Amino acid sequence: MRSSNTPSQSPIQAAIYTRISSDRRGTALGVQRQQEACRELTERNGWQVMAVLEDNDLSAYSGKHRPAYARLLELMETGQLQAVVALHTDRLHRSPMEMEKFIDICDRQNISVATVQAGPIDLSTASGRMGARVYSAVARHEVEHAIERQRAAKLQAAKSGKPSGGNRPYGYEQNGMVIIEHEAAVVREVIDRFIAGDSWRTIAIDLNSRDIPTAKGNKWTPINVRNVAVRPRNVGIRVHNEDRYPAAWPPLISQDKWEDLQLAIKRGQAVYGQRGTGRRHLLSGFVYCSICDQRMHIVNSATRGGDYVPAFACRKYDINKEPLGCGKLKRRMPPLEELVLDAVMYRLSTPRLDDLIASSESAAPELKQFIRDRDVQTERLNEILDLYSTGELDFSEYKTAKASAAAHLEELDKQIADHAGRRTLVNIPAGQTVQETWDKSDLKWRRELLDTLIEKIYIDPRQPGKAMPVFKGKYRFDPNLIRIIWRA
Ligand SMILES: [Zn+2]
Repeated sequence: MRSSNTPSQSPIQAAIYTRISSDRRGTALGVQRQQEACRELTERNGWQVMAVLEDNDLSAYSGKHRPAYARLLELMETGQLQAVVALHTDRLHRSPMEMEKFIDICDRQNISVATVQAGPIDLSTASGRMGARVYSAVARHEVEHAIERQRAAKLQAAKSGKPSGGNRPYGYEQNGMVIIEHEAAVVREVIDRFIAGDSWRTIAIDLNSRDIPTAKGNKWTPINVRNVAVRPRNVGIRVHNEDRYPAAWPPLISQDKWEDLQLAIKRGQAVYGQRGTGRRHLLSGFVYCSICDQRMHIVNSATRGGDYVPAFACRKYDINKEPLGCGKLKRRMPPLEELVLDAVMYRLSTPRLDDLIASSESAAPELKQFIRDRDVQTERLNEILDLYSTGELDFSEYKTAKASAAAHLEELDKQIADHAGRRTLVNIPAGQTVQETWDKSDLKWRRELLDTLIEKIYIDPRQPGKAMPVFKGKYRFDPNLIRIIWRA
């Protein structure tokens, strides 16, 4: 060790190194206290503090890069400091390998190391180095052993199907093993309603309006509702890391119901592409201009009274000023919606509805097959992209392969949308009329129903010089200028 009290020499330059970590020594002594203790020791040794380096390393043994530690090694390597001060050697090194590298630099550059808790460590002697290695090994062993014990206990609990602990799961008591019947009924209702086409949002609003609280006594959000519905716990599965084990607690729903839920989730994802679901209006995406056959857009239209009502308009240009449609037609939305709704209700009260329901029930297994095929096809597209990115396909091969896979995927999406849409009708509860179900359902369900029935709605131009009749005593609107192209 260097002597610190030689007056003819400039004072020894020391760096203080501190690290916060989650192990017990780190949490016991905050970084502020670590630094104070290190400063005192530095002064006692008559050294001068030339740098204070601090790493925030809360995940112990993560192997994460420590910028301050790297800087410390650099200062040591370049001979800018002659001493290092730390709380303990286990603040300095996280692994024996790091320690060996550190010892090597100290040796070459003749650097002193002092620690508050382990005293001075003279790395220039064999016994000093051994002491440091023992400290390091013991500290590492303690942490590793604790981690191992914890892991083993968690795996054991998972394999025996026991709950992982934590917050009380909705539908069960705190221990996660005993069903609370009235909450279980809510879980089953949520799942049934989602399968029937309600959105998580609609369900959340409804639960809140009925003053049904979450497990923590809060209001429901769409995310809460979804998380409770889709957790594997409901069907008696204990998940640990990626693995699934049979749970020791009683399930809330049957395996069949669980599969229907998965299908409903996938169906949602598959159908979303078509006409969009984030729409606020019932008919957006359905309405076309009969002059130019372009889809009509929703605009605000001024009334004579100075109010605005939404209307469908044929747009001449898109947002990029590219030509789009003829721009000649505009029609107010409220009477159009009423008219379409009347037409739908009339159509569904005819015997066709029974045919439709019969055909959609038999279509369910087919739909499952389409959705499986779609997964395969999506995977294939990813593979093609991989092959191209690794150079196994050249650009023209990639383009051909991609085009064919994408076309196949599009075809499957159409089939799924077709079958999934039809399934909506199956979900009209027995004993309820279409009108009643319509009134109780949300926009997503209504749009799915329309999608089942309607291909397009054409708006025809007004006859010149012909007065507009008054529709339902409210609007000047000619129902004869609307043509609905039915799918079914
Ligand atoms: Zn047009």
